[in-house]
Amino acid sequence: MTVIQRSQGATALVGLPELVVGAQVLVDGEWWLNVETPFDVAACPACGTRAVGHGRTRSQIRDLPVAGVATVLVFARRRWRCPDSDCDVSTWSEHLDAIRPRASMTERARARLADMVNIDGLSIATAAAAFGVGWATGNAAVAQFTDPVIADPGRLEGVTALGVDEKRFLNATAEHRTIFTTQIVDLDRHLLLDVIEGRSRDVLDDWLAERGTDWCAQITLATLDPAAGYRLALVENLPNATLVVDHFHAIKLAGKAIDDVRRRVQNTTLGHRGRKGDPLYRGRRVFLTGMDRLSDERITWMFGLLAAGDPDGEVGAAILAKELLREVYAAVDEAHARRRLIVFFQHCAEADVAELRRLARTIDRWVNLVLAYHRTGGASNGRVENTHMLAEKIRRNAHGFANHTNYRRRLLGRLGTKWHTLTVRRIRGRQPRSAA
Ligand SMILES: [Zn+2]
Repeated sequence: MTVIQRSQGATALVGLPELVVGAQVLVDGEWWLNVETPFDVAACPACGTRAVGHGRTRSQIRDLPVAGVATVLVFARRRWRCPDSDCDVSTWSEHLDAIRPRASMTERARARLADMVNIDGLSIATAAAAFGVGWATGNAAVAQFTDPVIADPGRLEGVTALGVDEKRFLNATAEHRTIFTTQIVDLDRHLLLDVIEGRSRDVLDDWLAERGTDWCAQITLATLDPAAGYRLALVENLPNATLVVDHFHAIKLAGKAIDDVRRRVQNTTLGHRGRKGDPLYRGRRVFLTGMDRLSDERITWMFGLLAAGDPDGEVGAAILAKELLREVYAAVDEAHARRRLIVFFQHCAEADVAELRRLARTIDRWVNLVLAYHRTGGASNGRVENTHMLAEKIRRNAHGFANHTNYRRRLLGRLGTKWHTLTVRRIRGRQPRSAA
């Protein structure tokens, strides 16, 4: 055990201007640093009379690590008393910007924890554990540094292209059905603008109304998930926007058709739901993947699974429908896309698979918004798709959020703003004078 008295070096290393560091002890691999303020005179905040010392309260406060070693500040906060018996103020504790009353972490450690979550993408549990605090303290720190940023109206300024998606928030339980959210993305800047509860026309209506007519008038493009009731809300609130069913959502519909056919065929051929080892179950992911992204070996493997588990070629027909729909989106222009749509519709009609007839009817209902994809220069969705995947990853990492406020904060903190990060000075090159 090392004990050093009042150290100027340690005070400089800790670098909190309001505090001096006294004795330092290494406890179980952590620095425990005794700290206090250097002020030994104070005036009563009410009457200005010179205060009398009234003891100290000691508390342990987590701070940033010093040279990689976890650090606890043992803070002796002074209490003062006003000696004037006529004064309304009797006793008080000294106030510090660096350590709030009853805090278990310094403000800068709380800020770092929020960065670990928002910028580095760690879960709150992981970031909190790094500071030896609990989830609630970590969550409060993230809220403190994230809420003002996501509430800033400037974050929503200058948006001209919107993506609107439904996303599952909570899976169904005995108490409630599956709960969905609506997520709104800025398609130009690839930022998540908001996460709202529900997936109805009304929730989107309310959100757009809150933005105001000027904001809505600036929107020239809106992509939407056809599965939810967004269309009318967009039509009514966005007078200047072209509506588009983008590639991502159309292929999601086709993917759902493939899953539906696969489950039905599994049930009728095997008499049970898909299990590990069943050919169609083994292929469930590869069936959804674009064929041009599969290697020859993978495609051969896929056809082997279909030969074993899809006697009437129904799953195969659904996969082909998905590929034909992808072709529509890959067309060079609208006329080309129209010709490819005919091929898609023909295939769905001839396949004699109920799920594909349903898919064709859905695409037919949305056909103008599908073709609009080519009129808007292919409202490209690659990076928005990336936002979807990150959002899903956050949801899974957090083991499901029970609370919409926390879920929204986590998503917007991670995907809803561009955080300014400090650049680190290169250690080679010009050196500070003292190092010369
Ligand atoms: Zn006083």
